[in-house]
Amino acid sequence: MSDLTRLTATEIAGLVASGETSAVEVTRAHLDRIAAVDERVHAFLHVDSEGALAAAADVDARRAAGEALGPLAGVPVAVKDVLTTRGVPTTVGSKILEGWRPPYDSTIVQRLRAAGTVMLGKTNMDEFAMGSSTEYSAYGPTHNPWDLNRIPGGSGGGSAAALAAYEAPLAIGSDTGGSIRQPGAVTGTVGAKPTYGGTSRYGLVAFSSSLDTPGPCARNVLDAALLHEVIGGHDPRDSTSIPQPVPDVVAAARLGATGDLTGVKLGIVSEFVGEGAEPGVMAAFRESVDALAKLGAEIVEVSCPHFGYALPAYYLIAPSEASSNLARFDGVRFGLRVGDDGNRSLEEVMSLTREAGFGPEVKRRIMLGTYALSSGYYDAYYGQAQKVRTLITRDFTAAFERVDALISPTTPFVAFPIGARTSDPYQMYLADLFTIPTNLYGGPGISVPCGLSDGLPVGLQIMAPTMADDRMYRVAAALESTVGTFTPPAL
Ligand code: GLN
Repeated sequence: MSDLTRLTATEIAGLVASGETSAVEVTRAHLDRIAAVDERVHAFLHVDSEGALAAAADVDARRAAGEALGPLAGVPVAVKDVLTTRGVPTTVGSKILEGWRPPYDSTIVQRLRAAGTVMLGKTNMDEFAMGSSTEYSAYGPTHNPWDLNRIPGGSGGGSAAALAAYEAPLAIGSDTGGSIRQPGAVTGTVGAKPTYGGTSRYGLVAFSSSLDTPGPCARNVLDAALLHEVIGGHDPRDSTSIPQPVPDVVAAARLGATGDLTGVKLGIVSEFVGEGAEPGVMAAFRESVDALAKLGAEIVEVSCPHFGYALPAYYLIAPSEASSNLARFDGVRFGLRVGDDGNRSLEEVMSLTREAGFGPEVKRRIMLGTYALSSGYYDAYYGQAQKVRTLITRDFTAAFERVDALISPTTPFVAFPIGARTSDPYQMYLADLFTIPTNLYGGPGISVPCGLSDGLPVGLQIMAPTMADDRMYRVAAALESTVGTFTPPAL
């Protein structure tokens, strides 16, 4: 394996900027690595070798012409298949969009290109980002590089696995209930969900629009912050985009890396350190809390009494929004069309298309959401869930009057074996027990590797107030400065 794939994004950008290596060489090294291991990992649904080499050559040409390059120029990035890429297949892990080549780039991808990063391809995911293991991808599961028989988390398991397998130094995910942070935790990588509205949803195929948040994935905290800075900030094409600059997450990561948390007050969420998490996860979490205290942080316990209702509320709100958002996949304008033989009615063709194009979990969500929104049940289900959402937001607001950030394990359990939870949807939903409250509130959350349990990675989650994304990067970088980064056994 070429050494170039072992470097951090920051190191790669430095070597490209100084001319010690070229963006084309870096890109070739990663494409070779993908060719060598992705048959076993299956992180990618589509590898765009030609596009990547052309983008890399462009960076090299601009450097040769003396142009100033951005901080991530020449760095390869893997993009979750939930974001539109012009002319490059975008499936959202679903058969219903198989073969679709979008006519436009999402804002995130536009910004990645403008920054001179090199898009390697599109990563595997649970269909329509519904899931916690990538097993619900219509194209087969992704395997965790730490143990190929285990899941890499989900829905963005492809992005996380690509990082852990050294197929890409940077990746993009999207987080509706934990799909960036949970895969980060179980693959020993860093995943950050920005403040809702802090990154653009333009060109992000919608799952639950009031929760969906694209964000950065990386192997270390500084790289994640650099990527966050590149993709974040106001976008007039997204009506819920926040018209403010991104908090200075890069400076915060650098400050955190000095290992000093004096004056920072952290709250352990009492509700999340009881019975919810398995013993190995709790042991790694407790050790990290001690490490944070040694760095000067003041640690207290904070009760967030409504967090226990977050999971049921989420499974009403997210499916409700999904049932509306997914109505557009009807075989009329793009994607799959089934049964259009000239003898069938439009309704029949739509129905056959949706029957064939959506997988079982997506259908379950559409039915759940349609039911929760139906007249007569709306107040009891959707309406009630919205009230719970308000109570959870109040828990966060009250907590942040006492502490700078909240901490918890990212997930209740480490990577489980492929197949272990597919027969019981509720067991799968539990993977996001600790990550969902943040989405309902809208604040930022990050998962940073904090230790191992039986040789498998454990993540620590840091949750901050809305538009205080910088705070979580500071704490995450400080923890990383003492526990280090985690490397899976060689593939
Ligand atoms: N696992 C959760 C779900 O299935 C969250 C998914 C996500 O964040 N996209 O809905």
